[in-house]
Formats: sequence, C-alpha cells, structure tokens
Amino acid sequence: MTQYKTLALAGALIASVLGAGIASAQQELNLYSSRHYQTDETLYANFTKATGIKINRIDGKEDELIQRIRREGRASPADVFITVDAANLQVADEAGLFAPVKSKVIESRIPAQFRGEDNRWFGFSYRARVIAYNKDRIKPEEVANYLDLAKPGMKGKICVRTGGHVYNRTLMASMIYNHGDDKALDWARGIVTNLARAPKGGDTDQIRAVAAGECDVAISNHYYYARLMASSKPEDQEVVRKVGIVFPDQTGKGTHINISGGGMLKHAPNKAAATKFLEYLASDEAQAYFANGNNEWAVVPSVKLSNPQLDAMGNFKVDQLSAGVLAQYTPKAQRFIDRAGWK
Ligand code: FE
Repeated sequence: MTQYKTLALAGALIASVLGAGIASAQQELNLYSSRHYQTDETLYANFTKATGIKINRIDGKEDELIQRIRREGRASPADVFITVDAANLQVADEAGLFAPVKSKVIESRIPAQFRGEDNRWFGFSYRARVIAYNKDRIKPEEVANYLDLAKPGMKGKICVRTGGHVYNRTLMASMIYNHGDDKALDWARGIVTNLARAPKGGDTDQIRAVAAGECDVAISNHYYYARLMASSKPEDQEVVRKVGIVFPDQTGKGTHINISGGGMLKHAPNKAAATKFLEYLASDEAQAYFANGNNEWAVVPSVKLSNPQLDAMGNFKVDQLSAGVLAQYTPKAQRFIDRAGWK
C-alpha cells in the first residue's frame, strides 16, 4: 500500500514536472482579431521574443468573430479579441464576452477615457472623425462643427457612408451625449436631408467623391485621408490637393474620437498570457507599432510617434468623452439613425 502510494506520488511528481516543462515550452495566446496591419507582424513577433508566448492569430470580420466566440462558448480557445470602434466593443461586451482585467500596468498607462466599463476592454490607439471639404467650394469655417452639416445651406452637398456603420453610430452616440436627444435626432435628420447621394462605399469613397465634385463635404475617419496623403499615386495626390480636412468642434467639446482596442475573453484558457499581452500593448514600443499601423494616435500620452501624415495634420482638441460612456449610447444611437432614415 505504502509502496504504491510512493510510486503514485513519484509518478505524479514526474508528471507535474514534465507538465510544467511542456506548458512553458508551449505557452500560447489565441488572438481573435479584426484589425490587422503590416506593422502588427513586428508587434506580435516582438511579444513572442520578449515573453516566449506564441501567438495564434485568427483574423476575421468583427461580427463574424463575435458570433464565433459566442458559439464556442465555454470551449472557446479565444484569449483576446481585438477590434476597432467602441460600438463593436460594446456589442461584444453586451454579449458578456469580456472579463475584467486587473492590471496596475494598464491602469497606470492607459487613461480612464480609453477604458471600458469595469476594465473589460481597452483602447490602444485612437482615431478622429473629421470633416473633409472641397477647397474650391467650401470655406473651412462653414464646416467648423458637426452641427453645421445639418444646416439648410448644406442641402445636397454631403457625402457619407451608411448611418448604421459603426463609425457613424458612435459619432451619433457622441452627438446624443453632447447635445441631448432632440438636437441629436434633428441633426441626423438634417444629414439625411442634405445628402448629395444615397450613402454608399467607405470613407475613402466619400473623400474621392468630394474631390470629383459629386459633393462638397464628407465625413471620414482621419486615417483614410492620411493614407491618401502618404500615397505616391498621382490621382491620390490630386485628391489631397483638392480636399482639405477640418477637426470639428474645436471651440466646443472637441473632435469626436474613437478607438482601436480589445479585451480578455471570459472563457480565455490562457488568462495570464492574455493579461501579459494587453499590458504589452500599452508599452511604449507596442503603442508606436499599433498606432502607426493605421496612422492613429497612441493612447499612452507619453508615447511620441514619428508619423509625417499625423504631424502634417497638427494638434487638435479631442472630445474627452470616455469611450466606455460613448459605447453605452451606441444602441440608442442606432435607433435614432433608423428613425432619421439614415440608410
Ligand atoms: Fe476604418
């Protein structure tokens, strides 16, 4: 009996030593991501170099990944979900997919404005929703504020993508927060009234339509304009020559910003690795790669980017509204967009 016990103990000991060896040799992180850029490759490789944790990446569209994580449930191998836009993070959060992350590193590096409710998700870079205008036809002062777009003088002049797209849904959420229900709904109705054409295409298509004279004004995320600025194609340079951008609401609350971000999943099998990865994304090095990957700004204030396009755009006043609060207004924003008929 005693002998068996000793043997069993010895066996257990060997197994646990072996197990530990195997576990450390095979430390992994399963990353589900709907955000991917070239510089992200270096970002992930550097993480593996620094920690020995291998990253298995699954790329997909945000709604498909959210559906997949829901379907996989408790058996989901997903440790971290990365996506863009507070509205997408809100959809995942409302589905109960995220777990809170307790990390002194993250809390000290990422300002509260860029953290979701209860630290269940985090922004790692931010983007601005700007107004693009045809320099020959519009003075920047005419479109200094988002509210200007709904004025009668803008009738037939605006190009914008569908209202239901997350970029517009989150902008709408900020309008509701900053101006109240009635004024925000009126604004959405004004946008619809002032459209030059039925919404179609992405943000770059709207900027190109402004250059082509199909409309005078467009709403776009800043990085689409930055990409055109960086392009060596003569037709893109021509667009930049014809179209200027305005950071709206500089004398008010500031320009609406949104985030690229993510969080740890509730059923993550590798929670320690997930926390390490999220902490890594807040490091100086990773912040620069993550932000530059899409010409966005770093959320960690001390991180300085070297990005000629962003430098050329200059500094601007940012709306301080927290991404977590903003996210909570996105379901209501979608209802308002539907009521306004912003298809
Ligand atoms: Fe985008």
